[in-house]
Amino acid sequence: MRTEVKSTCCYCGVGCGVLIETESGVVTGLRGDPEHPANRGRLCTKGATLNQTVNPTYRLQFPEKRLVRGQGGQRLSWELALDEAAERTVLTPWPSTFPVS
Ligand code: SF4
Repeated sequence: MRTEVKSTCCYCGVGCGVLIETESGVVTGLRGDPEHPANRGRLCTKGATLNQTVNPTYRLQFPEKRLVRGQGGQRLSWELALDEAAERTVLTPWPSTFPVS
């Protein structure tokens, strides 16, 4: 069964109204809500492609680390991935080449 559900684009503060089209519980399309006062049916490029983010087949479902350049990533536990990310982003010294006034 085909249905259309009102929602709001989540990408920015404008909060454009969207109509999400589904068929048998699967998102099949999206358009701007012509009755929404913020956008009156129009959507920017990001909003117009919002439905493409629903299909998770091309998105990572778990952390991966590339051990060799040019090869695929290997799965990591969330704990290891978060530890490594924290170490690289928090514990790495500020580059000494960055100009300081
Ligand atoms: S459609 Fe574009 S302008 Fe509207 S809320 Fe989404 S990102 Fe913002």
